[in-house]
Amino acid sequence: MTFKALLIEKDDAGYRAAVKDVGDKVLGAGEVTVRVAYSTINYKDGLAITGKSPVVRKFPLVAGIDFAGTVESSDDSRFKPGDRVLLNGFGVGESHSGGLAQRARVKADWLLPLPAGLSERRAMALGTAGYTAMLCVMALQRHGVTAESGEVLVTGANGGVGTVAISLLSRLGYRVVASTGRLNEAGFLQSLGAAEVISRDTFSNPGKPLAKERFAGVVDAVGSHTLANACAATRYGGAVAACGLAQGMDFPGSVAPFILRGISLYGIDSVMAPMTARSAAWARLASDMDLAKLDSLTQEIGLGDAVAAGARILAGQVRGRLVVNVDA
Ligand code: NDP
Repeated sequence: MTFKALLIEKDDAGYRAAVKDVGDKVLGAGEVTVRVAYSTINYKDGLAITGKSPVVRKFPLVAGIDFAGTVESSDDSRFKPGDRVLLNGFGVGESHSGGLAQRARVKADWLLPLPAGLSERRAMALGTAGYTAMLCVMALQRHGVTAESGEVLVTGANGGVGTVAISLLSRLGYRVVASTGRLNEAGFLQSLGAAEVISRDTFSNPGKPLAKERFAGVVDAVGSHTLANACAATRYGGAVAACGLAQGMDFPGSVAPFILRGISLYGIDSVMAPMTARSAAWARLASDMDLAKLDSLTQEIGLGDAVAAGARILAGQVRGRLVVNVDA
């Protein structure tokens, strides 16, 4: 039996991504076979689809670092046919065939039950970007940043991590300052809960080791000078959660904010995060995310549109989140 998958191939003819009819042999080894309902396009999927960074390490491979669907068959006692499940990361879509397909086969250790209250579509509307936003929010909260501590900066505001982070933080009562290169989307960011929208130029150029103390916390999806300047503008004892590199992987900062203001920098990784952290983050997403806001930041596309969407997300042209209906 064949099924549709976004297949990445690399050979003498070059690197290419296309939707194809494939058979089970493209799926990797695993105890659980899943009928995928929805997947999504994250920034990393864009890198994998375009081949701009060496995300995919095995060929041919099905793209897609996320999926949600229903168990078809299982050789592991933790899952049975009919169970609704969710997967994020663990190298899926990188070294093991992934979620941009009608079917996936993965290790039982990588699967989470679909959180109560979230449909497959909404789980993918959140996806790795949303789950990472929640890991960032939880890191700030563990540090002790509360709504009363002061403003929280969210960079890359119109992206997947940014839009979910703004929605979550504003619902939790924080005053959110959103930094964006798309000031024309200020109204949209305000509708998600941003109290103030500022230009990304404020932070994206080389800055001073220390700036005026402003933010109690930062969720940074951008890296490079933006992360360095965000650290420099963090208030005494505040915290920065760094998860992304949309501007760059470099960190051209100084130790001044750390040794003179005692700020903390938390590194956030979603891919290999332990199950306990994932379960906690997804439970919090199911309870804390405003579903009307989630729907307002989500667009649905079909599997056939996923290749073009991969290029669009890298070009910074996607607003919010894209869910992929693998049957369309
Ligand atoms: P998106 O593409 O959806 O969002 C990124 C946003 O960053 C853009 O929408 C844009 O926002 C901003 N941006 C883009 N280019 C630049 C630039 N050159 N300078 C400054 N800002 C820029 O991606 P995601 O939200 O899905 O992911 C964001 C980052 O987080 C990516 O680097 C991704 O790899 C990383 N990530 C890391 C994870 C982890 O486990 N650590 C998990 C998930 C994501 P605007 O137009 O508003 O300025």
